[in-house]
Amino acid sequence: MRIVMLGAPGAGKGTQAKKISEKFDIPHVSTGDILRKEIKNETELGLEAKSFVESGKLVTDELVIEIIKNFIQGDSAENGFLMDGFPRNLAQAKKFAEMLEEIELKLDHVINIDVDNSEIINRLGMRRTCKECQKITSVAESSNGASCPECGGELFIRKDDEKEVIAHRLEVYEKETQPLIEYYSESGILIDIDGLGTEEEVTERILKSL
Ligand code: ADP
Ligand code: ZN
Repeated sequence: MRIVMLGAPGAGKGTQAKKISEKFDIPHVSTGDILRKEIKNETELGLEAKSFVESGKLVTDELVIEIIKNFIQGDSAENGFLMDGFPRNLAQAKKFAEMLEEIELKLDHVINIDVDNSEIINRLGMRRTCKECQKITSVAESSNGASCPECGGELFIRKDDEKEVIAHRLEVYEKETQPLIEYYSESGILIDIDGLGTEEEVTERILKSL
């Protein structure tokens, strides 16, 4: 199964991607996670990406294409994959289509998680990340606002979850990523999922639609 997951920042893409990839036993490829890891480890790639990621801009297409190419060419892509955060603009989507065509593979589903803007702004404002295990939590939901429900680690606000940066990320999303909804709906593989409700409810909706 080869799946692409679309949705605004804060739509719940990452959470759902993790569950769906576990369910179908396919690798979960999050370009955001990969970039953050590279930044943390201060690799060459990370140093190149840092200022873009932290200011809510997209990193260059070359850079993410390189990441995806490495993955596609590796063994772990054989059983399928779930892309989370890629492609993020039309140029990436077209390049991705070319890469898949070269190895005679096709996407099965593109899942678009739909959540309106006011809810997105709400959610991103409550979002905290664990310093230790990187798990993302909502401070409104966690019983103890100061520590990670998973490992007890300290929570912090990701640089790109700061208020001014959120507004910019939403603009980038609307301008760059939203056109992909139409692009994939033209090829008939788009599934629209209502992203409101509990995590479990949204997962149920996705599983039913596949
Ligand atoms: P979110 O979906 O919450 O915005 P991600 O973790 O997917 O966050 O991405 C965080 C940041 O990483 C983006 O704002 C961007 O700077 C960078 N990034 C991730 N994926 C891509 C991509 N495919 N193309 C360009 N930049 C990307
Ligand atoms: Zn943790």
